Amino acid sequence: MHLIDSHCHLDDDRFDADRDGVVARAAAAGIERIVVPATTANRWDKIRDLCAGNDAFYPAYGLHPWFVEQHQAAHLRDLDAWLERERPVALGECGLDFYNSRRDEKWQKRLFGEQLALAARHDLPVIVHARKAMDETIALLRRHAPARGGVVHSFAGSEQQARQLFDLGFRLGIAATVGFERARKLRAVVAAMPDEALLLESDAPDQPGAAHRGERNEPAYIVEHLEIMAELRQTDPETLAVTLNRNAERLFGL
Ligand SMILES: [Zn+2]
Repeated sequence: MHLIDSHCHLDDDRFDADRDGVVARAAAAGIERIVVPATTANRWDKIRDLCAGNDAFYPAYGLHPWFVEQHQAAHLRDLDAWLERERPVALGECGLDFYNSRRDEKWQKRLFGEQLALAARHDLPVIVHARKAMDETIALLRRHAPARGGVVHSFAGSEQQARQLFDLGFRLGIAATVGFERARKLRAVVAAMPDEALLLESDAPDQPGAAHRGERNEPAYIVEHLEIMAELRQTDPETLAVTLNRNAERLFGL
């Protein structure tokens, strides 16, 4: 089985000590291609170097809402130039996160809106992070979604929100949280959405599944929640893998 991990922070410092081992374990599990989204401007060069060294890694560049306090207006201008020069597979990750507070709401929305405009300008899809902000994310995408669409990664909304996003040209990245028994809403979304709507992702080193609670997450583990997704969709993992790979290939132009 061949799989694409559509969202893995392979540049994360938590992989520095054994990144080759992580990649080897992923390859042994069939994960042949990995999309690597960015978090802050000062890490773009690490991602570029990482992806330059391996044909199977695909970079995305952007300003992640978790790090809203580190971002500066100048980084948006830098991103514009960087996208022009590097031609990544996507802009990301970007978005809104009101989990901790809404203190930076205005700045978060400006960063997100301007990155959506940059994605349109550079004809790129976007990798979107939305936490405790799904309706506001959808509202911004309605106004500014780039023509190439994108993915709302580690989707955690309702089926209604999933359908609204899909209608806007967005796919839903499904992380290992789908394996949690309490994730009823997400399991219903995975069961109900059309084939074209879903992507598979680890979000490693974050978001380990139930079987790896407390551990660092790894791309190799996506095989485990692929099986759960296949069960929910009443198909077999091999068939679902073909569908999910095609979705990632189309979205990112792999
Ligand atoms: Zn991420």
